[in-house]
Amino acid sequence: MMSHFQGSEGRYRGRFAPSPSGPLHNGSLLAAMASFLDARVHRGEWLLRIEDIDTPRVVPGADRIIMQQLKALDMQWDAPPIWQSQRLALYRSAFESLAARDQVYGCACTRQELPPEGAYPGTCRHGLPPGKTARAWRLRVPPGIERFQDRWHGPQEQDVAAVTGDFIVKRADGLWAYQLVVVVDDGEQGITHIVRGADLLDSTARQRVLARQLGIPYPQVMHVPLLRDEAGRKLSKQNHAAAMDLSKPVHTLNRAWQALGFDTVNAASAPEFWQAALNQWAARYGMHQS
Ligand code: GLU
Repeated sequence: MMSHFQGSEGRYRGRFAPSPSGPLHNGSLLAAMASFLDARVHRGEWLLRIEDIDTPRVVPGADRIIMQQLKALDMQWDAPPIWQSQRLALYRSAFESLAARDQVYGCACTRQELPPEGAYPGTCRHGLPPGKTARAWRLRVPPGIERFQDRWHGPQEQDVAAVTGDFIVKRADGLWAYQLVVVVDDGEQGITHIVRGADLLDSTARQRVLARQLGIPYPQVMHVPLLRDEAGRKLSKQNHAAAMDLSKPVHTLNRAWQALGFDTVNAASAPEFWQAALNQWAARYGMHQS
């Protein structure tokens, strides 16, 4: 599955992977900013991947707005963007390679049949109950503790079999699950470093398990804080996170920068902001060795 796309050995390659369910907001800007800066201080590449696989959530035109927003903030990506909706053959072939090794199985359970929380109980692991047909497909998660370092949060461990159990790689609605496509894309694009929001820290162990089963090396990770509203909820499109003010780019950038734990930068323009931010990011995270 590794292709010509793979980065040359040791070369940093990062990405920003927004879901086009709406424009970027002050919350999603944090992940964009941190991934951009980290790629720049490592003299790496910064790729843009439009995660439009979850079609019911895609808002037509949001991808173009996101690109305009990034450009307005002087955040230029280094290669033509990719759209997950155009890569279905890749996901199918990854799935088929898992199926050929019996690492996935069909599951007939409906949401109502599953416990509201906790790991999948394994109902269909050894075959579908009589008279039932497969709805979704799950990965056979091997036993064991998954351990890794997060560059923001430090050492992490998760017993994936106990926490989530066999998780879904192909959904009951026929769509490829986020966990599958993200691992396949990061592998196929030769991503060496993932920098994204802390809401995905919990997915990382699952993605590492899946990557290993697909024979894909898993990138270094850094999960940056989420912006929260006064009630402590993650700012998201769903709860009407404030739109970004692009008429004052430096102000908008400084808000995200502060939320990442840095002091406001005095800058007259976005390029000036980035110069100062790069120096400060390099001082804090630039010596990172992968
Ligand atoms: N598309 C995901 C999101 O917008 C991010 C996926 C990732 O960075 O791994 O939340």
